[in-house]
Amino acid sequence: MKIGIVGLGLIGGSLALDLRSLGHRVLGVSRRDRTCQEAIARQIVDDATVNLSLLADADLVFICTPLGAIIPTFEALIPHLSANTIVTDVGSVKTPVVKALAPIWPNFVGGHPMAGTAESGLDAALSNLFAGNPYVLTPTETTPANAVKVVEEIVRSLQAKFYICRPEDHDKAVAWISHLPVMVSAGLIDACMSETNSNVLELAQNLASSGFRDTSRVGGGNPELGVMMARYNRDALLRSLQQYRQSLDGLIADIEREDWQELEEKLKQNHQSRPDFIAGKNFS
Ligand code: NAP
Repeated sequence: MKIGIVGLGLIGGSLALDLRSLGHRVLGVSRRDRTCQEAIARQIVDDATVNLSLLADADLVFICTPLGAIIPTFEALIPHLSANTIVTDVGSVKTPVVKALAPIWPNFVGGHPMAGTAESGLDAALSNLFAGNPYVLTPTETTPANAVKVVEEIVRSLQAKFYICRPEDHDKAVAWISHLPVMVSAGLIDACMSETNSNVLELAQNLASSGFRDTSRVGGGNPELGVMMARYNRDALLRSLQQYRQSLDGLIADIEREDWQELEEKLKQNHQSRPDFIAGKNFS
């Protein structure tokens, strides 16, 4: 297939590497000419330019720009596409993207690869980034079955674990397992930094070990990503945060009442529930 990739960064560059190695002709479009030239020189793509007209006869286009640029990029792309071209995106929030794009392009299939690193840009692109990781498609009732099938086959060829769901369900699910953890972890760091005794704070910083490293990692990451999650997945994130507040209040009440039995019950249940959240437990 002739496959276009718009946005040659971590996800776009990684897709290009895998799709090219699978024998597809890969055409890249990015914002900066320097990125396009680098992608050609490193043989990540067959051709690349800053001009969307390069994708005029692509069979399939992946939009891999930052979330806020997906809709305007797609609107700019439309005049260059043939009606048969199937378009998908990789944005990590689906409802606003699908709501905006499905009505204007019937052959649009929302998608989200659940894979990544803390790095960004073309230099961060990796081969086999998607293998073994979930990749979700979020078609609507009106998305043509053939468009879904074509994107599904590509996703499966990346050795990703394929899932399909409604955009709204996707956003609620990622709020629980991706966006809530970022906010909880950010709150953890913020709470620690509120320690007013500088000796205690310094001691805590010196004593922090693997437990703190694990629980603070996602909250101490890229601030832009955190804001992006809150901005584009606001409703689902608030729903999860409010439930989290209730859970936290419950734990505080147990400890205040010295109800060690109730606390132990909750912790036992959590111990049993955690393995169910290990990605790929149930996939087709
Ligand atoms: P990234 O590494 O920053 O790559 C995005 C690339 O898009 C940039 O390198 C930039 O390339 C290009 N770009 C920026 N604005 C553009 C525009 N208006 N038109 C065309 N190209 C533009 O970001 P990423 O991590 O790959 O994320 C891309 C998308 O994947 C996002 O929508 C995100 O939600 C989704 N996603 C990310 C992850 C993750 O873990 N990072 C995981 C799953 C999904 P230039 O060098 O040309 O400026």
